[in-house]
Amino acid sequence: MASRALLRLRNSLYRAVSLDQSLSLRKFSTCLATPAKAKFNWEDALNLNSQLTEEEIIVRDSFKTYCQEKLMPRVLLANRNEVFDREIMSELGSLGVLGATIKGYGCAGVSSVAYGLLAREIERVDSGYRSAMSVQSSLVMHPIYAYGTEEQKQRFIPKLAKGELVGCFGLTEPNHGSDPAGMETRAKYDKDAKVYHLSGSKTWITNSPIADVCVVWAKCDDGQIRGFIVERGFEGLSTPKIEGKFSLRASVTGMILMDQVPVPEENLLPNVAGLKVNTCKKSALLRISAQNRSNRRVSLLEGVFLSLKGRGRRKISLNNAEFHGESNKFWFFTLR
Ligand SMILES: Cc1cc2nc3c(=O)[nH]c(=O)nc-3n(C[C@H](O)[C@H](O)[C@H](O)COP(=O)(O)OP(=O)(O)OC[C@H]3O[C@@H](n4cnc5c(N)ncnc54)[C@H](O)[C@@H]3O)c2cc1C
Repeated sequence: MASRALLRLRNSLYRAVSLDQSLSLRKFSTCLATPAKAKFNWEDALNLNSQLTEEEIIVRDSFKTYCQEKLMPRVLLANRNEVFDREIMSELGSLGVLGATIKGYGCAGVSSVAYGLLAREIERVDSGYRSAMSVQSSLVMHPIYAYGTEEQKQRFIPKLAKGELVGCFGLTEPNHGSDPAGMETRAKYDKDAKVYHLSGSKTWITNSPIADVCVVWAKCDDGQIRGFIVERGFEGLSTPKIEGKFSLRASVTGMILMDQVPVPEENLLPNVAGLKVNTCKKSALLRISAQNRSNRRVSLLEGVFLSLKGRGRRKISLNNAEFHGESNKFWFFTLR
């Protein structure tokens, strides 16, 4: 049975449905009615449509309408002038697509497949917009949901879901990239004050210049890497913008610079330590599949992966997915 949050997502997505939309739904039903010997459909070469539930199709097509009607007209100038409109996060929040797979906390609780479909629709318009959405969902809301305390979940997730707060995820560093083994950022615990002092720098961080909340990974005194929720306004924190990107220009990217930033112990994510951060990033990258705008094949692969995984047709574990990073350009992955 659909949850109330899911109904909210469906209703809000439905509101965005235009005449075009109903036409595309009709096209889909016609396609279902076509007898066995189907023609090759280059737009859906693996016939993924036939694997989707009715709900997933509604979510996908409704969001597609929003993306095409509301985002597409803005992206040309956003890309040319390298600006990100903060209002887009509020719009995505009101549509219910931020953290859409999370159950409860004001989130829709849709399937991973539906999330993959949402990501693909926004990606059609621009990788930068997709990046903003998926960082908020997979790299900020997800770690808080998976590793945070109940109090942290109640405090942050509903506001992140509405787009009232914007989040960013700080793993990558200037000297070691995304390799957590070389991490230089340190968290020193002050027992008396019950705070951690975070020092170090993160770079190439999506959303950081506009973020209210940064999920930052740092090495603690015991050598373990842990996650911290660093909030805008904490002393010693700055998030300068990186100007002049060649790709993902419609998203805002920056650094997270921390000079003895006092982070209360309540902001430590208690249920994660060690190199799990890598798993967290990998799982998020899998969902993100950030890519060069022209690389449509990756979207297709992502759809295939999510679809197969969601339906349990074939076992593809994270270990079987290989991730490649092309510094300063884009990410992509291949399935072995
Ligand atoms: C626009 C943009 C936004 C970003 N947003 C974020 C963000 O929000 N948060 C965040 O933490 N990071 C972010 N990043 C950083 C991004 O995650 C990394 O750039 C990416 O993961 C690649 O890591 P790297 O730069 O360390 O490259 P590397 O890991 O150094 O990889 C460089 C090349 O070396 C290859 N390579 C690496 N290791 C090996 C190996 N052992 N064997 C063989 N080949 C290898 C890789 O395949 C790649 O081709 C962003 C980057 C960009 C460009």
